[in-house]
Parts: sequence; structure tokens; C-alpha cells
Amino acid sequence: MENLAQPNYILEVTYLIASILFIWGLKSLSHPDTARRGMFLAEAGMAAAIIGTLFHHDIQFFGWIIAGLILGSLVGAAFAIWVPMTAMPQRTALSHAFGAIAAALVGIAEFVMHSGTMSTFTRSALGLEVMLGTLTTTGSLIACGKLQGVIRGAPVQFKGQQLLNLLIFFGMIGSFGYVLYNPAATGFFYTMVVLGFLFGVMLVIPIGSADMPVVMSLLNSYAGLSSAATGFVLGNNILIIAGTLDGFSGFILSILMCKAMNRSITNVLFGGFGAVHHEAGPGATGDMKEISLEDAAVRLAYANKVVIVPGYGLATAQAQHAVRDLANVLEDRGVTVKYGIHPVAGRMPGHMNVLLAEANVPYGDLYEMEQINPELSTTDVAVVVGANDVVNPDARDNPNSPIAGMPIVEVDKAKTVIVLKRGQGRGFSGLENPLFFKQNTNMLYGDAKATLSRLAQEVKNV
Ligand code: NAP
Repeated sequence: MENLAQPNYILEVTYLIASILFIWGLKSLSHPDTARRGMFLAEAGMAAAIIGTLFHHDIQFFGWIIAGLILGSLVGAAFAIWVPMTAMPQRTALSHAFGAIAAALVGIAEFVMHSGTMSTFTRSALGLEVMLGTLTTTGSLIACGKLQGVIRGAPVQFKGQQLLNLLIFFGMIGSFGYVLYNPAATGFFYTMVVLGFLFGVMLVIPIGSADMPVVMSLLNSYAGLSSAATGFVLGNNILIIAGTLDGFSGFILSILMCKAMNRSITNVLFGGFGAVHHEAGPGATGDMKEISLEDAAVRLAYANKVVIVPGYGLATAQAQHAVRDLANVLEDRGVTVKYGIHPVAGRMPGHMNVLLAEANVPYGDLYEMEQINPELSTTDVAVVVGANDVVNPDARDNPNSPIAGMPIVEVDKAKTVIVLKRGQGRGFSGLENPLFFKQNTNMLYGDAKATLSRLAQEVKNV
């Protein structure tokens, strides 16, 4: 625990600098123009926090710290170099699991060493830290497994599940309460640890992969709060500040994502979205009309206004540069090109903005869903690049659809819609999309990157 007798000015000043950098970084992340800088600021903040900690009075042996630094840096670098952008959600889930297990282990170690001498307040913070840390660890590992496809993505539900979850939850809280009352009750402490791990699994298995981004953002919030509680246990200000920032930003993000999908947090956590195949609306029948590359190029070349709507397929195909090249070719011909961005297109918030920014698409060409929708009826061609759920008109037209009420980019209102996808694959919700059967929709099959490159070439030849 912190040596309170001697003020440690170097440590406090570096922690203050780190806190400012974290807050500044977070603020910068709220706009695509400054988001990159925000990441660097946050990184610098983390470096300052680590350097400051090295000046802690209680450190007597640096060997473990150096070993941790080397190991952590190696794992972090490997992740950054080899994990593809498309696997970012599951990579993030793994990071949450690492952070959470670290908090839980610190809590367990503190309990083993100091439980007898701790104040009730510190013991409460420790209990919170360990409960949130353990459940976030296993919850994040299950989320990662589902997103990576090593665990079945569909919700796992059985009779009596909610009752069992309640029992585990109250068993965990009850054990925590008893430890508060009797710090020598080690058996109850370890029961709480085991139930925490179990609760994480039980909390996430009934949720389908389509809802994993929201779950992860919630788990992120728990991991942050667990770190903040660790800060109270260790008397460490930077952990309290960074943990609270992390905890609340994760929570706000979960709410924003739910809002963009027109769902509630309870519906995400207990709704079992994706468990059953729901009926698509009456429009999802008939044939999908295919269009040739040449015909698609002619329609684009002679259009006045084209709106491009990217989705998850753009990310899997890494087609962001190819889409920018097509837009350039069209603009050279005098066509107005705009991008319509749905807030939950892809697999994480801001996914499309990040990819398009990487390809140097001017930020002014990106239009949020609410801005682009009124323009679609005057759009000659809407080009859907690997998007599916976010352009599914059932969300608007079929009250029985599980995504009913979710706002969509209304591409079906454009004069012509060209959909670029590989085949008849469904979106992450697993729902059929009536858009593909509409009179004004034309399917252009193939990998988005390859199709866009060939399309750009073809437009040049028109
Ligand atoms: P989507 O509904 O998952 O559809 C993606 C489509 O891309 C698929 O239908 C697939 O069809 C196609 N595709 C895949 N690889 C491709 C490739 N290489 N080339 C061309 N097409 C390819 O994607 P979305 O419209 O972006 O919707 C996002 C979904 O994630 C929504 O359900 C949303 O609610 C959910 N979600 C997102 C977030 C977030 O933060 N972004 C958070 C929570 C939930 P083929 O297999 O036929 O190619």
C-alpha cells in the first residue's frame, strides 16, 4: 500500500500529467480529425503513468516489473502487428480480459496480505474490484471466443437460466457481504472469486454475437470500474482517475450503441437476439437481380449524384482504398459522391470513419445517417458496399422484425441501388434483407475490393 508518510512529488506530478493526457486524449477521440492525436495523447499518458509508478517508494525489487514490461510490450506489439483490423473487436475483448484479471489478482493478493488490517471501506472496494475483475475476465473471454467463432455465436439459453444466474449473483454478493463482516472468512472470499468467474460466463453465453460489441463496451466499463476500485485499495490516484474515465466512457458508449440500434441495455443483455430465425417481411421473396460490371459502370458514370454506403463487408475486404479510387474516378467525371455512414455499420463504433480516414477520404464527404437520408430520393445511384443490416428496410417497414425501429440508411429510396457483396450471405443479425429483392436493386457479386477496383477501371473506359 501507498507510503503516506513521505509525499512522493515525482510520482504525484507524473500522475497529474498522465491524468491530463488521458482526459485530453479522450476529448480528442470524439472527432475523427483529432482522433489519431487522441490515441497518441492517451499513449503518452500511459507512458507517464508507468514511469511515475517506477518512482513508488514501496518498490524494492525491479526484476518483476522489468519482466512484466518486456512481456507486456511483446504481447502488445504482436497484437498490433499481426491482428487484422477486422479482428479488432475480439482483440479488444482480450485486452479487457487481461486488464480485468490483473485487477482481480491485485485484489486477491491484497486480501491475502492485508485483509486483517484493512478498513471496512478498503475491504468494500477490494470486494468490488475482485467481483468486477473476475466476471469481466471470463465474460470477455467468452465474448472474444464468440466473435472469433471458436465458441458458437448463437445465444445459449436453457430453462431456469435466469434463476440460476440470480442464484450465482446473490451467492457472490452474499459471500462478499460476509467477508465484509468477517475478514477472516477466507473460504467465503474464494467462493466469491469462483462465483465471479462463473457469473461472467453465465452473463455472456445467452447473448448472441451480433450484440457482442455492446456487451464488450459494458465489460470495458466493468473493467474500468474494477481498476478504479483497485485504486481505492492501493491508494493510487491514477488508477482511480483512469478507471473512472474508462468505466463511464464504456457505459456511455454502450448506451449510444443501443440507441443507434433502437434497443435497450436490458434487451441486449436478456433479449437473446439472434436465437431464432425471425420471419422477414413480405418483401423478402422473389429473385435477386444481378447486374454486370459493365452495366453498373455505365449507370455510375452517367449519374449526377452517387451515395456510397459502406458496411462490415468493406472492412473484411479492406476495400477502403478501392472505394476512394472509384469515388475519385467518378468525381473526375463531374459526379457528386457522398458517403452515408450508419452509426453501427461494421463491428465497432466509428469503424467506417476510421477505415475511410485511413484511405484519406475527406471528412467533409462523410454524412451521418440523419444527414444523408433526406438526400437519397434525389440520388441517382446508391452503392452499398458490404452493408446489410444497416440498410434493411424491414427495420422501418416490418413491425415484427427483431430489428424493427432500428434507424437505417434508406438506400431503397434512391433511383437505383447497386449492392456489392460476395453472395447471398446474411448480415450479422442473421436476417433476410428485402432490399435485395426490390425492383430498383441490382446485385453485383464478388469481393468488395476486387469489384470496386474493376468498377473504377470500367468507369474510366465508359
Ligand atoms: P452486416 O449486416 O454484418 O453485413 C455485412 C455484409 O457484408 C454481409 O451480408 C456479407 O454478405 C457482406 N460481406 C462480407 N464480406 C464481404 C466482402 N469481402 N466483400 C463484399 N461483401 C462482403 O454489416 P452492417 O450492415 O455493417 O451491419 C452491422 C451489424 O453489426 C448490425 O447488425 C449492427 O447492429 C451490428 N453491430 C454493430 C456495432 C458497431 O458498433 N458497429 C455494434 C453492435 C452491433 P456476403 O456474405 O454475401 O458477402
